[in-house]
Amino acid sequence: MPLTIVQSGEPVLRKPARPLRPNEIRSREIRELIQQMKETMYAAPGVGLAAPQVGQGIQLAVIEDRPEYTQDWTPQQLAERERKPVPFHVIINPRIRLVGEESLEYLEGCLSLANLLALTSRARKVKVECVDENGEPKIIEASGWYARILQHEIDHLAGTMYVDHMYPRTLMTVESFTRHWKDKPLSEMKKVLLGASPGH
Ligand code: ZN
Repeated sequence: MPLTIVQSGEPVLRKPARPLRPNEIRSREIRELIQQMKETMYAAPGVGLAAPQVGQGIQLAVIEDRPEYTQDWTPQQLAERERKPVPFHVIINPRIRLVGEESLEYLEGCLSLANLLALTSRARKVKVECVDENGEPKIIEASGWYARILQHEIDHLAGTMYVDHMYPRTLMTVESFTRHWKDKPLSEMKKVLLGASPGH
């Protein structure tokens, strides 16, 4: 059974999550939680899910960008987002560093802000230090869409959500996106929605 994904307004989404202690990481409770979060992410579907989104204030997130999520996309759409499949993995107690000055703007959504999207700027490259579900240290160097996922999920562990970074004038429903912007270049959407007042 998938877990309930809490929605914006729940205090747990706005509180910094606590790190897991080494002896907790391999506990039965955490192993079960990881399995349930994986099922919940698949059922949503989503490319990432952080523990606070299922009501747990701990520094743990699951990530997977499956090839079937983008199988109908054109090479141009994939290139625009710098999106490639990412296998399932778990990040625990992560520290993130933004690498370089480059940023990428694209529409971002969140399972805890159902049915909404907004243009959000993110660093193109990041480096993450964390431990995995076995307590093994990991270093992840990511760019493009995967770097966006990592920034989004690790934000959740600090009580931050994409709406804190978005261009507010671009906030839209998925229905509006499908009706007006799905097949249009990003530049046109920015021109219309940001108008004469770009910036946050
Ligand atoms: Zn989210």
